[in-house]
Amino acid sequence: MNPDIVIIGSGIGGSTIASGLAGSGAKVLILERGERLTPSPQARDTRSIFIDGHFRPRETWREAGGGRFNPGNYYNVGGNSKFYGGVLLRCRRQDFSEMQHFGGVSPAWPFAYEELEPWYSKAEQLFRVRGEVGDDPTEPFHSVPCAFAPVPDEPPIARARAELKALGLHPATLPLGVDIEAWLNGGRTGWDAFPNTGVGKMDAESAPLVAALRDTDITLLTGAHVGHLELASDGRTIAAVHYRHDGQSTKVSPKLVILSAGAIMSSVILQRSRSPKGNGLANSSGQVGRNFMNHNSVAMLAIDPRRRNDSVYQKTLMLNDYYLSGGSGGKPLGAHRRGAGAARRRSHSPYRFQVDAAGGPAGASIEAPLAKDRCIPPFPFLDRVGIGLPDQRASARTSRRSPKAYSQYEPYDGVKASIM
Ligand SMILES: Cc1cc2nc3c(=O)[nH]c(=O)nc-3n(C[C@H](O)[C@H](O)[C@H](O)COP(=O)(O)OP(=O)(O)OC[C@H]3O[C@@H](n4cnc5c(N)ncnc54)[C@H](O)[C@@H]3O)c2cc1C
Repeated sequence: MNPDIVIIGSGIGGSTIASGLAGSGAKVLILERGERLTPSPQARDTRSIFIDGHFRPRETWREAGGGRFNPGNYYNVGGNSKFYGGVLLRCRRQDFSEMQHFGGVSPAWPFAYEELEPWYSKAEQLFRVRGEVGDDPTEPFHSVPCAFAPVPDEPPIARARAELKALGLHPATLPLGVDIEAWLNGGRTGWDAFPNTGVGKMDAESAPLVAALRDTDITLLTGAHVGHLELASDGRTIAAVHYRHDGQSTKVSPKLVILSAGAIMSSVILQRSRSPKGNGLANSSGQVGRNFMNHNSVAMLAIDPRRRNDSVYQKTLMLNDYYLSGGSGGKPLGAHRRGAGAARRRSHSPYRFQVDAAGGPAGASIEAPLAKDRCIPPFPFLDRVGIGLPDQRASARTSRRSPKAYSQYEPYDGVKASIM
């Protein structure tokens, strides 16, 4: 097939676009470096996931300070969404305007919430989001109500909800792409960080990709690892997408390329593609790979020895009372004031808070987009090096300080790191 459109990556971005293209008559090829996840005992085993890192990629990245880490960035059909928490929140209206946070400014977007609203509604239908609109004062306008009833609170969470309400706060139902009965039939575990190898979680594979592949004009090629994009002689369009499949280097020349390999890997592919300026494709601004916003977890524990928490899935409740205001004229903290001082101070941007266990809530904070927080591939311009060398060496790095490129690799579990 000579495709009209190549989509790189089958995560939420790539698969959702593919589903939007279904029925358009365009021949679409999705190139995905990973394979499909299949059911295994490890998929529902807490130890395998959280301690053994069974599903983690066999690669090591480096921080700016030189520290090495094994990233939680997954390469498989459906991308990271196979492991995600299924929380499908809309950004708040105010998120689209500039907002001063505790540790920095969250810049304005070039468009308003209203422009995205119809697309949020479509996405919520595609991902069969369960929830209800109403309890959360920060919830923006919805043109279409949730079509599916919320995932019910487990008793300890229902109690936490009632207690928060009694304090005058506004606990609300998390919008979830989870069919709880189907999920629990596969094993009595939570779903966040557990891979969806069957049904139960609405992820990029189980929702949009399944819909897209009903169109025979859309094809998925797994194990197809894109190395770089080749610039056409006009200096403005892509002449070819170079990838490796079944041990062979090959290329394809579509009319349109959609790069959706994830926030980090999309920037790696661009930075590794040769350009006249020498700093990668689409990078005359020098912004490619910058403004990396890490998603930190903030834990707060409140232990009541008189109560036994027998909940299994827990994650049905959110609290956004401090999302837009820190109270009494304070800058927005996003979430919870008490108990998380030091951690919160380091979080600059919208910061949401979800109760994650009865009395043991966990919050999620997102760093502000700062130009110095960047991702640098070790080998820029891979087309000069060639992909798939037997001793292919690579690492990626998320840097907070020095903008120096890094070009070593680290073995992980005896396997050489291989970002590209
Ligand atoms: C444990 C966990 C929990 C999360 N919980 C939530 C949540 O509750 N709610 C939420 O909104 N978000 C959550 N997230 C984040 C969310 O999953 C991601 O933001 C989202 O899936 C990113 O989608 P993407 O399509 O941009 O990228 P990805 O998911 O990274 O998809 C990119 C795809 O491209 C492929 N690819 C990469 N490089 C190449 C290459 N060179 N050639 C070919 N293919 C390539 C990858 O294999 C992958 O399939 C969570 C993430 C994790 C890990």
